[in-house]
Amino acid sequence: MKWTKIGLYTVGSLALGYAIYTALNQDKWLSRAESLPTEWQLRLQSYYPSVDLSNVQVIVTDKLPLSIGINYGAVTLSNYIFVSQAYWDILDYNDRLKVIIHELTHVEQWQRLSLLYPALYVSLIWLPWQSRPLEKSAIAKESLVSSALGLV
Ligand SMILES: [Zn+2]
Repeated sequence: MKWTKIGLYTVGSLALGYAIYTALNQDKWLSRAESLPTEWQLRLQSYYPSVDLSNVQVIVTDKLPLSIGINYGAVTLSNYIFVSQAYWDILDYNDRLKVIIHELTHVEQWQRLSLLYPALYVSLIWLPWQSRPLEKSAIAKESLVSSALGLV
């Protein structure tokens, strides 16, 4: 029983790892990647001391990677932040910045955990998303940095 679980997690993580690798190596994504606006880098860098914000890429796109059957507004894979075009379009300046603040926490986590990040995510996918540890800290940091910047 235990081994079945470990096997499922391993297969799930490897599949996710492969999907991420494939997603990140497609020209359709890479050609749309843009650096964070300089103004945002300046406003946010001190909150993410371990991340070089000039290396973070944002891709606003009609179809997010790994979105099979799931609707979400944004997803971070390594230092790439993918945002759904439809979601981005309805957000004002402050709300866009908040999305970036949230996702930058995931960039930080990816940097710290590397492939443990998708493994951890897959193993806790059965929890409501706000209860997953990686999301909890992203939500907490989003609210901390947003209020420090006067966005809320
Ligand atoms: Zn998140």
